[in-house]
Amino acid sequence: MTIAPQPMPAPSPMAGPVCRLCGERAVVHWQRRLTEAEFAAHLTLEHAAVQAEYTTVVFACAAHAITLDAAARVHQATCTAPSARDLPGCDCTPEPAPPPDPEPTAADVAAVLPPGWSW
Ligand SMILES: [Zn+2]
Ligand SMILES: [Zn+2]
Repeated sequence: MTIAPQPMPAPSPMAGPVCRLCGERAVVHWQRRLTEAEFAAHLTLEHAAVQAEYTTVVFACAAHAITLDAAARVHQATCTAPSARDLPGCDCTPEPAPPPDPEPTAADVAAVLPPGWSW
């Protein structure tokens, strides 16, 4: 009597986020406004008022990443990135990146410190 070979166990699903385009492990991500469907799904979880306040995270692998500059912005709900046709760009006009917090300059620090406290 022979023992039938056992089927290999199914590979475990890849842990962590994957590229939206190809399914490879994601290495980058950016934000996009929710589509109507995503917003509707979101509403079933919690009652929210303003769609514009919500974004979803889009993941991509290194091969399908958009530019770093584009990834720093919030993309429109209609944005299809990562899309092979548009890479390394996308098909929307992303919102401007928020202005960086102003770094205190030496002059700012000197203005608030008493004499003799500068370094
Ligand atoms: Zn990919
Ligand atoms: Zn976009």
